[in-house]
Amino acid sequence: MATVTEFDTIAAISTPPGEGAISIVRMSGEEAVSIAQKVFSGKDLTQAKSHTINYGHIVDPKTHEEIDEVMVSLMLAPKTFTREDVVEINCHGGIVATNRILQLLLVNGARLAEPGEFTKRAFLHGRIDLTQAESVMDLIRAKTDRSMKIALNQLDGNLSHLIDSLRKDILDVLAQVEVNIDYPEYDDVEEMTTKLLKEKAIEIKQRIEQLLKTASQGKIMREGLATALVGRPNVGKSSLLNHLLHEDKAIVTDVAGTTRDVIEEYVNVSGVPLKLIDTAGIRETDDKVEKIGVERSKKAIEQSDLVLLVLNAAESLTKEDFELIRLTNDKKRIIILNKTDLEEKLDRKELAKISGNAPVYATSILKNEGVEALEEAISKLFFNGIENSQSTVMVTNARHIALLKKAQNSLDSVLEGISSGMPVDLVQIDMTEAWNLLGEITGESYEDELLDQLFSQFCLGK
Ligand code: GDP
Ligand code: ZN
Repeated sequence: MATVTEFDTIAAISTPPGEGAISIVRMSGEEAVSIAQKVFSGKDLTQAKSHTINYGHIVDPKTHEEIDEVMVSLMLAPKTFTREDVVEINCHGGIVATNRILQLLLVNGARLAEPGEFTKRAFLHGRIDLTQAESVMDLIRAKTDRSMKIALNQLDGNLSHLIDSLRKDILDVLAQVEVNIDYPEYDDVEEMTTKLLKEKAIEIKQRIEQLLKTASQGKIMREGLATALVGRPNVGKSSLLNHLLHEDKAIVTDVAGTTRDVIEEYVNVSGVPLKLIDTAGIRETDDKVEKIGVERSKKAIEQSDLVLLVLNAAESLTKEDFELIRLTNDKKRIIILNKTDLEEKLDRKELAKISGNAPVYATSILKNEGVEALEEAISKLFFNGIENSQSTVMVTNARHIALLKKAQNSLDSVLEGISSGMPVDLVQIDMTEAWNLLGEITGESYEDELLDQLFSQFCLGK
């Protein structure tokens, strides 16, 4: 059973390139089952039940050459990701065999899928909305478990529900305004109507504002929190870095069937992905003259969202320490007092005085003391207030953020229009615009071009 006829059958390798143990070639479309049957020797797939896994071999129908031993998953429309018939061939013959299987499918009637085309179909068939499609993309890129949860949340449609409810409220107001205009039974109808519009515009603006507040955290989840690790030579920066890097905190989470990201200098600190700035500098400056250190630190500090400033507890504060404290005064920062296993010489009261009581964490990286508390602190700094992000909607996507801001602007125009005495029907236009802009987030009002651009960001096979 197929759903929509104008869609041809597409195929792609949906596992990451490389020598994985199992590769999956995925097909979606009306002909998926019959094309698979042409190259499959085993059970008759055209008679197989939906959602079954079928053992057999892939055989070139022309040469009768056996290419691989496979398991074929059969999922018939509409209960599939794309809402079309989907066939997944699980093969284990390595990259060459996988490519040959794909080639065979293409020769036998399938078309090579464009990047993101599977997800695009899921969207076009109403299986998922745009925010959900985008979260599939985020999942592929998710850098920590926490980022993944947000993406999964979005996949559930939490953001969509929120946007839908905002739109519904706007629509209600617009309807109410229409009624008031059509039935001017009261003398003060104009006044009543503008009052209603004003109240609603303010209320909706506030709700969007709340949503936008989550955006900075959202950005961090997606891109990592730019972190500068600074301190004069020998205080323990490299040791800390190694500690963070070496604990088993593989930053890239394995989602079945998704492509692994390139691993940059990221560490996962209690769910917050830190993107470490200029760690090469830290490694290099170990043996070099001190001045390189401070100059370099300056740059890193400027680019950072968070500064981890390491001090040596076993020495009094130096001129350089003072300089680094001053440079980071208006940054989000955590001061780390390292080497607490040694006799303490640093004056904590003096430190508190010059650092404006910035949070201080005492550690002995050597003895592995205090580092956990430090990691918790980093995480808390960013999840305060949104700790229960499982149930909270967070905007993480640049396109969503831009549209929410545009909607805010339209609501501002509504309010300006009202206060400058503009006629109600003109004010209505701005209100309608806000409704449209919000609709673009979920794809209620989408443009083909946007879709193509969006889905082309996906990996092949998604
Ligand atoms: P960096 O120059 O700031 O990167 O400092 P390193 O991490 O290279 O550390 C300099 C020296 O201090 C090394 O010999 C480390 O083993 C030592 N070190 C690091 N952390 C501690 C600590 O907590 N206690 C003690 N006693 N030594 C430490
Ligand atoms: Zn740790």
